[in-house]
Amino acid sequence: MRPSKSRAYCKDAQRFKIFFKTENKAQNFIKFNHAEMIEESGFAPTRCYYCIACDGWHVSSSRRFENAANKTELVIQAFTAETLTVNHIPGTSTEDAIQKKVTTKKIEKNNLFIQQEKAERLLQKISQRIQTISLLLDKKSDKILIYNLIHESQRLLTKNRAPGFDTQIDEFKNLLHTQKAKANHIFKDP
Ligand SMILES: [Zn+2]
Repeated sequence: MRPSKSRAYCKDAQRFKIFFKTENKAQNFIKFNHAEMIEESGFAPTRCYYCIACDGWHVSSSRRFENAANKTELVIQAFTAETLTVNHIPGTSTEDAIQKKVTTKKIEKNNLFIQQEKAERLLQKISQRIQTISLLLDKKSDKILIYNLIHESQRLLTKNRAPGFDTQIDEFKNLLHTQKAKANHIFKDP
């Protein structure tokens, strides 16, 4: 009656165990073999339990863990608990994630605003410089100052680009280019 054929390696028990497809079959095994096995070895299965790793039933003579979860179940329980905890930790909840996204967006928007403000201030400065260069060119004086102002302005315009200011930056670059040509014409060696 002992079904030696249905022994299978149980990953949970980490040894070969008799495997039953149904609880009923496992209970029948205990019922019909208990006495004989006790007689033979002094040990006999007294209970059966569902094994989540084998998706079937095993019998056991141990009463110790009768109501305890098996190893696989414990792993699953631990995993589930961990997953639930993670999902409910403040700062990782959906609301907090949305809040974080909003904050990030605000920072990005703020950064863009700062960048644009910087660009505006720079363009104002360059605009004044272009006027100064114009006056100096009219006076045909201060060659070194004129070239310094032109080159420094060109450098600043190339270095500081901000979204939405490209047209104005290019316009100023063109103006500076024209002023440099004019300066070259004025200050060319006779
Ligand atoms: Zn098993």
